[in-house]
Amino acid sequence: MTNSTRVSIIALDGPAASGKSTLGRKLADTLGYLFFDTGIMYRAITLIGLELDMNLQDEASITRLAQDTQIEIRPPSRDDGRAFDIMVGSKDITWDVRRGDVDANVSVVSAYAGVRKALSDQQRRIGLRGKVVMVGRDIGTVVLPEADLKIYLDASADERARRRYDELMARNEPANYDEILKKVIERDHIDSTRAVAPLRAADDAILIDSDKMDVEQVFNKVIALCK
Ligand code: C5P
Repeated sequence: MTNSTRVSIIALDGPAASGKSTLGRKLADTLGYLFFDTGIMYRAITLIGLELDMNLQDEASITRLAQDTQIEIRPPSRDDGRAFDIMVGSKDITWDVRRGDVDANVSVVSAYAGVRKALSDQQRRIGLRGKVVMVGRDIGTVVLPEADLKIYLDASADERARRRYDELMARNEPANYDEILKKVIERDHIDSTRAVAPLRAADDAILIDSDKMDVEQVFNKVIALCK
């Protein structure tokens, strides 16, 4: 597969829980490319801000935190369903970044221009090395506008909330469908209306609606586009 594609940089954007990570991981595995989920970086800064009991509304302090924090993504050290380890110093935050309080606050943190600059500069450096599937909200528009293939993966809010609900249930975590739906809608609203790098499809992105498609069908469609 690697030899039959000239597509090196793949940008995969879309709203919360649209299936980007599952698709991105599968694509990267198949092509032998690096999978990079940029949402993790915004989540890591939000988590640390919460743990340090910082005021997340204080843009200047949170921006400094983003500039000073070294987030490391490493190969998985444990076989507990993780795709990689997320480390800050010696602290393993792989699962903590998925916490409900992080979900609830990450869009506030990711709307800050200084936070975005600090994190997207790092993302761009990694992306430009090529052979990468980069997943996020602004990869095709801002981080890597020169990407060889841009996919915008969408699905209805109901479907996305249902998927998130199933994920939480599978991990034996408390889940309430109506609350999840409300939060998914709220997060998309903040992400798509912010002033800097809002969530939107790049003009040259290929739009895929995964409402009536399963993972395999979406994957087959995208892998065909890579060839
Ligand atoms: O993709 P995920 O749900 O993990 O992203 C968490 C949050 O991080 C998003 O809701 C968004 O606020 C922010 N994000 C972003 N730009 C990206 C990736 C994520 O603003 N490229």
